Amino acid sequence: MFHLTCSTCAKEFPADTTAWRCQCGGLLDLTFEPGFWPDAVSDRAPDLWRYREALPVLEETAIVSFGEGYTPLLPVSFGRRSAWIKQDHLFQTGSYKDRGAALLISHARALGIKKVVEDSSGNAGCAVAAYCARAGIACDIYVPESTSPAKLEQIAAYGAGLIRIPGSREDTARAVMAAAENTFYASHTWNPFFFHGTKTWAYEVCEQLGWKAPDSVVLPAGNGTLLLGAAIGFKELTAAKIISRPPAIIAVQAEACQPLTRAFETGSQQPVKIEKRDTRAEGIAIAEPARGWQILAAVRASGGGFISVTESEIRTAQQRMASQGYFIEPTAAAVIAGLARYLSTAPDKEIVVSTFSGHGLKAAGH
Ligand SMILES: *Cc1c(COP(=O)(O)O)cnc(C)c1O
Ligand SMILES: [Zn+2]
Repeated sequence: MFHLTCSTCAKEFPADTTAWRCQCGGLLDLTFEPGFWPDAVSDRAPDLWRYREALPVLEETAIVSFGEGYTPLLPVSFGRRSAWIKQDHLFQTGSYKDRGAALLISHARALGIKKVVEDSSGNAGCAVAAYCARAGIACDIYVPESTSPAKLEQIAAYGAGLIRIPGSREDTARAVMAAAENTFYASHTWNPFFFHGTKTWAYEVCEQLGWKAPDSVVLPAGNGTLLLGAAIGFKELTAAKIISRPPAIIAVQAEACQPLTRAFETGSQQPVKIEKRDTRAEGIAIAEPARGWQILAAVRASGGGFISVTESEIRTAQQRMASQGYFIEPTAAAVIAGLARYLSTAPDKEIVVSTFSGHGLKAAGH
């Protein structure tokens, strides 16, 4: 029905493999063709499982769900322009990471996995911990010591083991890889099932626009877990002739950590080595994104581009949204700052869609 394929050497792995990367070090992607028709879904429950034929879960009974997804798509005004914004801060754990965790932990459960490890700067850890709690799977979440206290509290509350690693986000990634030698690595960056969860963002957007694609989408780019998932979703919908073409992808980074914007500007196919500075957008402060070359390729193929935003733009965007009743965390505000910048130059007739990626309560008290 489907299998995994190494994106570097094309070696194939069965769908039930527990490998998280190829022996050659390459990223694993899913080779999967959804059999999906829009007509079938209109009277289904308003959650992401309405696209069941497009979701690669090996066993129906393994599905772990909180009835997540199908978040509202609301018009939000930016002066004389407006954009459609997915309310993905409204998920069970407060960020869109639940889309990926729903698929990934359902997959782990189908494989009979009893324990997983995961590393995260916060929200992916919250999502994996919550879905593991619901599935009865044990988990250890590795986090950088500097993660927001509210996120640490949330992860621990679900009963996950919390392993705080001193140093950088990259030090945390190295620590979990050692643990992943003998425990299932439920990685939101390496495991391709996560991306087949986040792709539902694209399915929902198109359905909510009347099975039409927007002209452009403005999305965060740290590890690219939403961006790459959305790209998969739009590609599948285009291949199935449900939409005529995928939108341009505008990727947003923080100026303080912009290995991909720099690569895009210099024509590089790989992320550029950078000195990371402090940023309030902790969720996208990824200096060495494992799927960096895929993010660059997806943005280039879409005809889109990159925008890097400053700390003061992030603060302004957060306040501006709160003044309209939307409380979002700084990382989510970075995306909205990028959206505001994009709208100031985008053609008037363009349909632009973006996202509120995380809830403001996540970073409250900071
Ligand atoms: C994870 C996350 C992002 C973006 O993440 P990447 O997958 O690293 O690109 C953006 N906003 C919030 C709130 C997040 O939790
Ligand atoms: Zn390989």
